[in-house]
Amino acid sequence: MSSKVQFSHRFAELPQAFYTPVDPQPLDNLKLVVWNDDLAEQFAFSTTSQMTEDNIAAWFGMGENENFQPLAMKYAGHQFGAYNPELGDGRGLLLCEATNTEGEVFDIHLKGAGLTPYSRMGDGRAVLRSSIREYLCSEALAGLGIPTTRALGLVDSETPVYREQVESGAMLLRLARTHIRFGHFEHFFYTNQMAELKLLADKVIEWHFPHVVSETNPYAAFFNCVVDQTAEMIAYWQAYGFAHGVMNTDNMSIIGQTFDFGPFGFLDDYEPGYICNHSDYQGRYAYDQQPRVALWNLSALAHSLSPLIDKSLLEAALGQFETQYSHYFSQLMREKVGLLSKQDGDSELFNDMFDLLKANRVDFTRFFRQLSELDKLGREPVVDLVLDRESASAWLERYQLRCQTEFNDSGEAKSDLERCAAMRKVNPKYILRNYLAQQAIEKAQQGDYGMVRELAELLKHPFDDQPDKEAYAKLPPEWGKKMEISCSS
Ligand code: AMP
Ligand code: MG
Repeated sequence: MSSKVQFSHRFAELPQAFYTPVDPQPLDNLKLVVWNDDLAEQFAFSTTSQMTEDNIAAWFGMGENENFQPLAMKYAGHQFGAYNPELGDGRGLLLCEATNTEGEVFDIHLKGAGLTPYSRMGDGRAVLRSSIREYLCSEALAGLGIPTTRALGLVDSETPVYREQVESGAMLLRLARTHIRFGHFEHFFYTNQMAELKLLADKVIEWHFPHVVSETNPYAAFFNCVVDQTAEMIAYWQAYGFAHGVMNTDNMSIIGQTFDFGPFGFLDDYEPGYICNHSDYQGRYAYDQQPRVALWNLSALAHSLSPLIDKSLLEAALGQFETQYSHYFSQLMREKVGLLSKQDGDSELFNDMFDLLKANRVDFTRFFRQLSELDKLGREPVVDLVLDRESASAWLERYQLRCQTEFNDSGEAKSDLERCAAMRKVNPKYILRNYLAQQAIEKAQQGDYGMVRELAELLKHPFDDQPDKEAYAKLPPEWGKKMEISCSS
């Protein structure tokens, strides 16, 4: 850790009702799995080559670290639709804040740090498997440009942790502009702590939405922003085929960042009803349910904000969600297919595309990437992805005709090359397929962290051709499709 870094801890200055101070509990024989040098450099933190045993211990809560003031945040939340008042940081601790070279303040949170007053029946630990998944996925989303928390580093250990089998305990350092969740507001509302509810809203506005202060009704303006940012985040998820898996209100960030990675999954074949969470028997959090669930979660938040904001204003804000979501989603989809101007017949073209993908269970990521290579490779690789070749060709015919009516900023017809070059910047060649994460995990469980590091590097640049990494762009093997991930993490 460098002396240049500026540390703070605004959350620790809040009253005790917001948290409990807790020290991390050590893990045995820490081993550095992966450290995010790019992110570390943004804060002037140590980089991999400086991560001595003492430095690793200091970062992961085992040694002396005067900059840290670890605390477990108290929150509550709706889990699978049912209110649970007992939640809070049960295995993670907010250590401090640090300011990056851009002057932005980030929380540093240590996940897997041991028992807290909110651990309930849990052991306070995180296993290597789930920590690798969170590290890789948060960095993969960041690489795609999707709002998300970040991962700074990950350690493995020799401390046994008991799940369905014995696994090794791990810890993840997570960075985020805030760790405040919808559930923080729900906690104060349902325990009737109105002064604390107001203080929380005031602080969130001060720290994260300072521009609303000058509005006639800052609280309502703040909630409008939350609705808008959440709609944008979900639009990104849908456009990139990401299923979160556990959209409980305690896993919803108040600033609309993807938060708490559990049994997530990226779509392989386009199956709108895809359920990635093994324990989600009803498909509440299926891929195509995410926009609806986000609105449900926002309504739960609105209820908790009702002492501060007039009901009609809350309803008006919620009423905007669908429009905002559609706006963001259609913008992202237009970029993905390279049709930026709005023209008659576009809806049919898009709907028929989704029908084609669904009926033929086409690989979601590959389809759009292949569409972005039309200039270089022609139609064949697109048609090859679709069982019903005739329908694929017919759709492509219409699509390419439509492409001819796109114009660039100088008013000239857009060339294939121009359109495809822009499309390649938004349609990834590489995504964190479940089977790739699984392979990296299995190697790491044998003590080989190479593939975790390799994927972490690869996914920083998901849109670039990386010729020596072609294997990672392959379609998944049959066994790797539709892996359902257990919630026990
Ligand atoms: P999650 O589903 O991972 O977002 O966790 C839901 C709640 O359970 C949160 O309050 C977590 O802190 C808590 N939790 C999850 N796993 C554990 C664990 N192993 N030990 C203690 N608390 C946990
Ligand atoms: Mg959680």
